[in-house]
Parts: sequence; structure tokens; C-alpha cells
Amino acid sequence: MSFIRFENVTRRYNEEVTALDKVNLEIARGEWVAVMGPSGSGKTTALNLLGGLDRPDDGRVIVDGIDLAAMSRPELIRYRREGVGLVFQQFHLIPYLNALENVMLAQYLHSMPDEQEAARALQEVGLGHRLRHLPGDLSGGEKQRVCIARALINRPKLILADEPTGSLDAANERAVIELFQAMHERGQTIVMVTHDLAVGRRAGRQVQLEHGRVAGEFLTQAQDEESIDEVLEYLWLVSEGDPAAHAICALGARLATPTVLGRMRERGILLETPEPRFSDAGKKRAESLIRRHRLAETLFSNTFQMHEAVVEEEACFFEHILSPVMTESICGFLGHPEACPHGKPIPRGVCCAAASIGPR
Ligand code: ADP
Ligand code: MG
Repeated sequence: MSFIRFENVTRRYNEEVTALDKVNLEIARGEWVAVMGPSGSGKTTALNLLGGLDRPDDGRVIVDGIDLAAMSRPELIRYRREGVGLVFQQFHLIPYLNALENVMLAQYLHSMPDEQEAARALQEVGLGHRLRHLPGDLSGGEKQRVCIARALINRPKLILADEPTGSLDAANERAVIELFQAMHERGQTIVMVTHDLAVGRRAGRQVQLEHGRVAGEFLTQAQDEESIDEVLEYLWLVSEGDPAAHAICALGARLATPTVLGRMRERGILLETPEPRFSDAGKKRAESLIRRHRLAETLFSNTFQMHEAVVEEEACFFEHILSPVMTESICGFLGHPEACPHGKPIPRGVCCAAASIGPR
């Protein structure tokens, strides 16, 4: 049985606005779902219903076998306190309480404040040195982490997050996403609204809302293939021993989550070993990608004399669209180069062998 079930859920705000229109959706226990879609498509409305902050006009929202609409007020309050952790883009921290007190307030609402436990939760999110700071003295990323500590404190089964990385810089976004990853690994169910495709890809599944309806589920095939390519490139750089692999293939490094690596194992791209290792097929695919990327770099840099900053960006684009025929032509045109402008080896292709340049 699903942990969460939307059954024909409709929510109207007035005659003109139907925020959710007969939505059916199931989410399994422990799943990490990203809810995506344009502004006004009903994402926040769906989260509010799940958090018991709002009720549907029609249909049912069932969490853990219980219809939220059938709960009495006290039951609903208990559900919100004990069952759900809320992380919102606007932080809703009490401005005159410091970080520690804000977390302790959540404990108080749940059961008993426990200062040591609250301090531990803040340490877990990397804020051990900010316990006594007021929200006004914390950066956006730090405030978001206080909210996460607060949401974590009761170990709720369900975490609801509305654009939790919306106002964060890249470094804080990464830190916050790692925290969600840890919650996911602990088995907590996460429903997260996000606009950011890279954040959405960290989830196990994406649900796309449009005009209050579910417009699609799961990663599109193209998105999925592209994520796998990014991860393959990252793993290739790691296998070359490049100490900057994390920085060069930042997206690939971020996408190399247990979920995506698992999918790559299922599909025979990686071997069933604990550490990621290419299968023969995976190695071929990675080689071909790296080959296209480095040939494009060589072409742009040596032949077109493009600026280094642009070369990398363009190469990342071209590696996805170069056909095999085009790749061979470029390789031939460049005289089958052995290394890219950075001095990294370019994997050999069929054309190189035909041009009687032996494999390295
Ligand atoms: P999203 O989070 O995807 O941007 P929302 O769920 O916030 O979308 O809103 C869905 C639709 O419902 C929008 O058209 C929005 O204007 C409308 N809406 C949301 N909340 C209210 C409200 N309290 N009163 C009237 N209309 C609302
Ligand atoms: Mg919203």
C-alpha cells in the first residue's frame, strides 16, 4: 500500500481558480519525490494538503492509511507536530529567538524541549558554531539549515519542502541537498517542490504539475540519459586520477547519488561492485563521450581559436549532439589528435585505427 495517496483531489480557491484538478498520485514510503512545474501549477497547494494545512474540496488525501480530512482537529494538530517536517523557502523562524531556541520551540510543540538534542541537530546541519545567533544574523543558507534542523528534530516520517534551495547560492544549495540525501538514506519520505532541474534530478522521481494536473511522472528518457552521461564523465575523470574531477564535472559529481548509480548498475553501465566501476558497455559509452568532448575542445581551441572559457562550455554542449559520422570527420580533419588542449588523452576511434594509428 502506498504511504501517500491523492485520490481525485480537487482544490478550488474560487470559481476561476482550480489549483488542483482531480489529481491522482501515489508515493511509496521512503521515496524522494520532486514536484516540479511552472509557477501557479498547484505545487504549494499540494504540499499544504499533505501537511494538513489545507483541505481538498473534493477527493481524498491519504497518508499512512488515514484520510486527513477525516481527522479531528486535535488529531490533525498531532499529525502536523509528529508526522511531518516542514521546510519552506521563507524560513518562518521566530526572529527574537536564537537558532537553538528556534529548534527547541519545535521540540516544545512536539514533546519536551531538550537543549542537548537541539544542539546536536544544529551540529548535524553544520551550525554548531551558530547556536546563539538570531535569525537576522544568519545567512540565507544558515537560516535554511536551522529550518532543516527544526524539521529533523522529531524524526518525522514525512518531510515536506517548498523550494528549499530557492534562495541559496551554489555552495549552500549543495549543503542543503546533502542533508536531504541523508534524510532519504535514513528512510524518511520526502516530497520537495523545486524549480531547479539539477535539484529535481537528485530525487528518485519527478512529478510534473501543469494547470493543477499531473502532466507527467518520472524523468524523461532524455533527461535520464543526460544525467547518466554527466555521471559517466565525472567517473572517467576520477578514473584518470584528476584531483579536480569534482570541480570540472560538478554536475556529474552532484548527480552521482546512490539512486542514479543504482540505476546505472541495473542497466549494466556499472558493475555490481560497491564502488562505481565501468562495465565494458559503460566504459565504451564513457570513452565515446570523452572522445567527443575532447575532440570538440581541440577543434574550438586549435582551429577556431576560441577563448578557453567558451571552449569548455561549448564542448559540454557538442558532446551530446555530435553524431558518430561528424565525430569521425572532426577527428580526421584534426589529424587524429592524441590529446586535447589540456594534454588529456583522447580515446581512439575507429577512424584512428583506419588511419593506421595504433591504439595506445
Ligand atoms: P505553485 O506553488 O505551483 O506556484 P500554488 O499552489 O501556490 O502554485 O497556486 C496554484 C493556483 O492557485 C494559482 O493560480 C494561485 O494563484 C492560486 N492560489 C493559491 N493560493 C490561493 C489563495 N489562498 N487564494 C486564491 N488563489 C490562490
Ligand atoms: Mg509555490
